Amino acid sequence: MIGRTRQGDTLIGLLVTIAIIAILAAVYFTGKGTGETKGRKDGIGRTIIGRSIAGAKDDVCRSNLGQVRAAIQIARANADDAPPADLKETRLGDSFYRCPLGKEPYVYNPETGEVKCVHLGHEKY
Ligand SMILES: [Zn+2]
Repeated sequence: MIGRTRQGDTLIGLLVTIAIIAILAAVYFTGKGTGETKGRKDGIGRTIIGRSIAGAKDDVCRSNLGQVRAAIQIARANADDAPPADLKETRLGDSFYRCPLGKEPYVYNPETGEVKCVHLGHEKY
């Protein structure tokens, strides 16, 4: 009697464990139930974890551009409103001059002092 109950508990435990693993695998491989089933414009990140990492790098890119623009403002203030001839004159470090996601160098216009990222989906950063 006691042995039978334990066997039944073990089977139910095993089935519940398999069901949980199946649900986690489905979320990981399809992204269903997370609101991220469509994927990204640039196609980076096939799994939910890959898309999360790409999303974090989107934020790093946006932050880098903010830092670069602030540095350009400071350089202009110190040079009678003339923007720096090259981004490297801002002396932020090489990691600030390219997109952390696609590694494309930022496009800088030394005449206007504008800087932007050319990575797909980063045009408005
Ligand atoms: Zn970017």
